[in-house]
Amino acid sequence: MRLGALGARPRGHARTARLTHGRPGIFGFSGIESCNAMAVVEGFRMQKTAVSAGAPRRARSGRFSWETLPDEDLLELRFKDLNLSVEGTWLAHRLRSLNDELESRGLMPAHAWLSDEWFSPSNTPGISFPFYLAHPRLIKLERKMVRDVEGGTQRDCMRILRHEAGHVMQHAYGLHRRRRWQTVFGQSSKPYPDYYRPNPTSKKYVQHLRRWYAQSHPDEDFAETFAVWLTPRSSWKKKYADWPALKKLQYVDDLMSEIADERPILTRREEVDPVGKLNMTLGEHYQNKIEHYAVDTPASFDRELRRIFSDDPADRGAPSAAEFVKRNRPDIKKSVSKWTGEYALTLDAVLDDMIDRCRALKLRAAGSDRSLRQQLTVLLTRKAVRSLYDSSRRQVFAV
Ligand SMILES: [Zn+2]
Repeated sequence: MRLGALGARPRGHARTARLTHGRPGIFGFSGIESCNAMAVVEGFRMQKTAVSAGAPRRARSGRFSWETLPDEDLLELRFKDLNLSVEGTWLAHRLRSLNDELESRGLMPAHAWLSDEWFSPSNTPGISFPFYLAHPRLIKLERKMVRDVEGGTQRDCMRILRHEAGHVMQHAYGLHRRRRWQTVFGQSSKPYPDYYRPNPTSKKYVQHLRRWYAQSHPDEDFAETFAVWLTPRSSWKKKYADWPALKKLQYVDDLMSEIADERPILTRREEVDPVGKLNMTLGEHYQNKIEHYAVDTPASFDRELRRIFSDDPADRGAPSAAEFVKRNRPDIKKSVSKWTGEYALTLDAVLDDMIDRCRALKLRAAGSDRSLRQQLTVLLTRKAVRSLYDSSRRQVFAV
């Protein structure tokens, strides 16, 4: 199932797509504004009653009763039991900023709601925020469960919103039906690939979200180009001056002036899979999500690890390679993530595997720390880029 570009989400089906926007970041809690105390509710049972009354409720303290639950209890709650809404959170301010940017260009504003992930459906000019962004307790849980928080900082949130706004504009104004759009970006009807092989050096595509995402599909190429174009002070004319991608940006610039103040063809504001109607528990949700991030590491690691580390009996005295990888894990992860945009969870899975293999092969870290670290970083970077299209990877991209 593809989201954001290919139709509304089927209901009642197991989700197979993961939404992979933005970069992990340290969440800026300063961005969170406390909700208005709309009702005095105490205890979870009473909050549920408040939900059925149809309004988002919080205790006078401004707290939800589930905030203090331990993770295992929180994971048992259903999405719809959380009583979440965009109103009164920092997300409402991000949406306002996005809409200011759109309106200043004469484009229609987008509406937004909370669901389980980032997406923009094709049947309504709106954007779904992932539920966890609506509350610091849920951000904490997200970080614990999948280690990255997509859109967790003000800046990253805006980056993703501008990308999603590209999908909104495409569908609201039916842009993909134009011949010129098709010439510039390709056919929107093209199926999304299960895996794609990006060329990190390509200058035919802008770079906005991680993983050279513009290269995955014509709709994503457009959304990414639109996002760069929309970003205030992005200096795209200068930054992309000698890139073939500049033509795409110039086309978006012309196209947006053309449609500015035009009436969109899609105006019905619907909320697709709103969080208040999702029966799934958080535990089930994370189980699915973690499965999708998982990688089946190929056994070919052994050969490469043997090249970096030593199994020569003469190096018996050198420190164990498994310990070396463990010790250098934060540094390596940081570099690889910087270069590839790979998810921490995926990198951790691969590193766990490497550590196991180093131990099984009884490898030793002989040689300079710096050189070993470098070689490991290169190996992991190569693996991460490859995993974007490797058939062993179960993750599907759909943003
Ligand atoms: Zn997208």
